[in-house]
Amino acid sequence: MDQTLRETLESAIRTISDYPRPGIQFRDITTLLGDPRAFRRAVDELVHPYSGSGIRKIAGIEARGFILGGAMAHQLSCGFVPIRKKGKLPYETVSIAYSLEYGVDEMEMHRDAVSVGEKVILVDDLIATGGTAEGAVKLLQQLGADVVATCFVIDLPDLGGRKKIEQLNVPVRTLIAYEGD
Ligand code: AMP
Repeated sequence: MDQTLRETLESAIRTISDYPRPGIQFRDITTLLGDPRAFRRAVDELVHPYSGSGIRKIAGIEARGFILGGAMAHQLSCGFVPIRKKGKLPYETVSIAYSLEYGVDEMEMHRDAVSVGEKVILVDDLIATGGTAEGAVKLLQQLGADVVATCFVIDLPDLGGRKKIEQLNVPVRTLIAYEGD
């Protein structure tokens, strides 16, 4: 029998309790990436609404956003832009501080990675509080990019990330939600 999207993703995502800190239910997508059918399905679903809509770049958040974003960029025949942790990019960068579900950090991108008006989609594996994605959207917008959408495999709706991004007038697309985290 054909599995629904939710069944396919749910059975491929591994949950690890109390990682990296007590009380966190870590949603591990390495098992999804290692499952040929689930990986393809997730990427197909993420790009589906955007084929033929003139997307020029996928921006991926380090590190799991790189894997999903590379596959999405290939599928949409567009470029890929890495958004990295501070100090990793070799050329001139723009940077922004952001808060995580479990900590604070700084992210950077190359200042010439996107052009003014270019249509960009931001991707990461999961949205929790939305702090990471909010920082990334602001960086892209600061460089003049037209952030058409943000997309994530997993939503933790109780942490409010979706609202934070929608307040920036950027749509949020997610494939599966885990309530109560
Ligand atoms: P946030 O900024 O709170 O939306 O957190 C999103 C970022 O932290 C993403 O890059 C996720 O990979 C990671 N993350 C946060 N919470 C979890 C979780 N419960 N399981 C797996 N990854 C998480």
